[in-house]
Amino acid sequence: MPETAASLLLDWWQRFGRREPALKPWMFTPEGVWPLPEVLLDPYGIWIAEVMLQQTQLQVVLPYWQRWMQAFPTLAALAEADEQSVLLRWQGLGYYSRARRLHATARLLLALIDADPAELALWPQDLDSWLAFPGIGRSTAGGILSSAFNSPLAILDGNVRRVLARLMAHPRPPMRDQVLFWTWSEALIAAIPQRSRDLNQALMDLGATLCTPRNPSCHCCPWQASCAAYAASTPELYPVKEAPRSIPFQVIGVGVVLNGEGEVLIDQRLNEGLLGGMWEFPGGKQEPGEAIADTIRRELREELAIDVEVEQELITVEHAYSHKKLRFVVHRCRWLSGEPQPLASQQVRWVKPEELGNFPFPAANGRMIAALMDHLGLPSTL
Ligand code: SF4
Repeated sequence: MPETAASLLLDWWQRFGRREPALKPWMFTPEGVWPLPEVLLDPYGIWIAEVMLQQTQLQVVLPYWQRWMQAFPTLAALAEADEQSVLLRWQGLGYYSRARRLHATARLLLALIDADPAELALWPQDLDSWLAFPGIGRSTAGGILSSAFNSPLAILDGNVRRVLARLMAHPRPPMRDQVLFWTWSEALIAAIPQRSRDLNQALMDLGATLCTPRNPSCHCCPWQASCAAYAASTPELYPVKEAPRSIPFQVIGVGVVLNGEGEVLIDQRLNEGLLGGMWEFPGGKQEPGEAIADTIRRELREELAIDVEVEQELITVEHAYSHKKLRFVVHRCRWLSGEPQPLASQQVRWVKPEELGNFPFPAANGRMIAALMDHLGLPSTL
């Protein structure tokens, strides 16, 4: 049965898969043709794309990938770049620790294949080597190796989990039965291992274009005849979800502190955590019953050892992460006293507002910067 499923999938993909160089440039040879099974592809661009695709869709990733490859066209260029320019190129994709891990992996890889990174056969070609790099999980490693070297390795990302959950009408959330889902994905590869690259791409394309989260196009699906969810007319019930958790909500007071020279104060977050290494305007959580101006004054005293006068509000920005929702209430502040100290950050800096675009900021800060520039009557830096 996996043989039939694999053949049907490949037949469909040959006709309808996303195989244009403009959509997945990293999957094509330098001559712009889809690789035959025995052809190796450069793992560098594939690895970057795979990590970017961990968090967002192909159409969103494509311009980021293109800008990234212009800035860091080779493994050596990435390994030798400074962390700020790496974070700046990642800005907007979120999960900044992934960019820092990419950077760290680039240095490890370069040390490993220093002889000639352009010699594709010198790159690590086994799962364990890739799993040892920071930020590389089993599905990403399988994606890189099957795409670059046609290695017979399965993948299991969100798209693939959804397709398999529907195909099997699996009654539990996939994350609870990872071993089983891996077994299914591996069975597909084992059916035609010499086409592993194409099978994984086909599976992803099926999930992204037909077996979509809502309104799947079952009428043109190559697996319709054997799909349990289709047979029961219930594809949208799968994958079964965990009961929703309530997401905490917090109000954050933010101070855009200006000094007498018209410079603005920014600080760089510690490297740990979701937005590690990014720059931001200082501030922190509002305590129960606290006025927002008091929050800002208190946070700036605690985190930077400065006293400020809290002036008018510049903007309020709502931002939702997967695990919490935040409301940033942003006020212009006038610096009164105290040399800023990085008591809860890596470093603090006074910068000209026009220079803010040179620093990587989390997405929520983009609107704050725009509000500041508007308030100061300056052109946007973004
Ligand atoms: S028949 Fe429908 S639900 Fe089943 S795999 Fe195909 S698109 Fe998905």
